[in-house]
Amino acid sequence: MNLEPIIGLEIHIQLKTKSKMFCSCSNLGENEPPNTTVCPICLGHPGTLPVVNEEAVKMGVKLALALNCQINRQSIFARKNYFYPDLPKGYQISQYESPLALGGHLTIVKGDFEQRINLERLHLEEDAAKNFHFKDKVLVDFNRSGTPLAEIVSKPDFRTPQDARNFLQELRLLARYLKVSDADMEKGHLRCDANISLRPAGEEKLYPKTEIKNLNSFKAVERALTYEISRQSRLWEEGTAPRTQATRGWDENEQKTVEQRDKEESADYRYFPDPDLPPLIFTEEAVSDIQSALPELPQAKRLRFVKEYGATLADVHTLVEDEAVADYFEKAISEGRSWLEAENDALGTSEEIWALNKQKLTKLIAGWLLSELFKLMNAEGIGIGDIKITPENFAEFITLVYQRKVNSSAAQIILKQMFATGADPSHIMEEEDLTQLDDAATLEEAVAKVIQANPEQVADYQKGKTPLLKFFIGLAMKELKGKANPEKLGEIFRDKLR
Ligand SMILES: [Zn+2]
Repeated sequence: MNLEPIIGLEIHIQLKTKSKMFCSCSNLGENEPPNTTVCPICLGHPGTLPVVNEEAVKMGVKLALALNCQINRQSIFARKNYFYPDLPKGYQISQYESPLALGGHLTIVKGDFEQRINLERLHLEEDAAKNFHFKDKVLVDFNRSGTPLAEIVSKPDFRTPQDARNFLQELRLLARYLKVSDADMEKGHLRCDANISLRPAGEEKLYPKTEIKNLNSFKAVERALTYEISRQSRLWEEGTAPRTQATRGWDENEQKTVEQRDKEESADYRYFPDPDLPPLIFTEEAVSDIQSALPELPQAKRLRFVKEYGATLADVHTLVEDEAVADYFEKAISEGRSWLEAENDALGTSEEIWALNKQKLTKLIAGWLLSELFKLMNAEGIGIGDIKITPENFAEFITLVYQRKVNSSAAQIILKQMFATGADPSHIMEEEDLTQLDDAATLEEAVAKVIQANPEQVADYQKGKTPLLKFFIGLAMKELKGKANPEKLGEIFRDKLR
């Protein structure tokens, strides 16, 4: 049977405001001892009154605008009634009929093409406290109680588990660019429930969905959905496809989903507008002020890097993955460009020189940054914000490579030293005597020595065993302490051995 998966996501993002959603307690409770960042409001004492955190609302609007949602001019907080030990009020303050924002979409990139994932809504709510389950008891930490959350509900637009994972990763990146959340799944800043149903390919109808909870990592989302696709496919094949909505939990140890309690319908929560909180009213002006202050978002940055610098899609993806890396790259490019223009100013206008050389410069900068510099950073376990190499020095280093003043093994030595000490690359090059040997007479002398010392190999080469060229270049390179220009050595060998 040819079945098509229909997948939707429900995502909670913790907003990193200074204080909680409806009280002035610190919102950094995850780093504090249990039950220390609490007050009568977030502990749900009777007679206390919530006050909306303006910063949380602004962050929610930012996120909604970046997701292309329509901000409701008026949105209303509602009480979602249910009982659980982590919810002392007996209800959670959320939004129901009039959420902060409706619609919207986020584009995910799949190789060379893009897919638009449409959204249902984005609303604000408060987080519950956190339960810790032990063998014979449950302990509750109320530090998390009242943390601001943005809940995002997607349309069932995903067709593969990989798409769902890509979407979550893009959403995390977006939240980080907007500085509204660290969106770390492992720390619970970003939490996701996925719902999935199958249907015979070609049908338009939706079948009862199964919601999967307890997905604590991107990998878990992808694996749980993959597991459900095969489980539900089997049910379809057996003629017992799910007839009602169900809730299942992901068991990380067993790598499978297990049945949980039946899902409540929204009617069970008896939502009603919270009488303690006034509606949120937004003027056109307030929204457009926030809109115009949005930073450049990841997808726009990717497209610009391709267009402006001629960077490859693969490089751009990695560069933009961390805003600090993207900034570093751009600073290095800008320095490199100034150098390039000064160096070649007789050859045309600065635009012409840039147009001719940008691809080569960009390739070198992105290449050395993402491979060698990343390797050094990973070995030390540090981020780009902590390295001693300034973008200026990195650009200068690239110009040495660009001009072939150093060969690639010397360049690696220089970069390592720059990484260790932060010193200037030209200085290291001179100090360590690493300037590339280009002088024909010196190279020829070394080539002659190698030819004389290896008559057998020379004979083989001349009989057609041409891969020996690499061996000869290696020997000559050794002779010249690794500083020679390998291309030139190759040329001389080919010439002399003809
Ligand atoms: Zn509080």
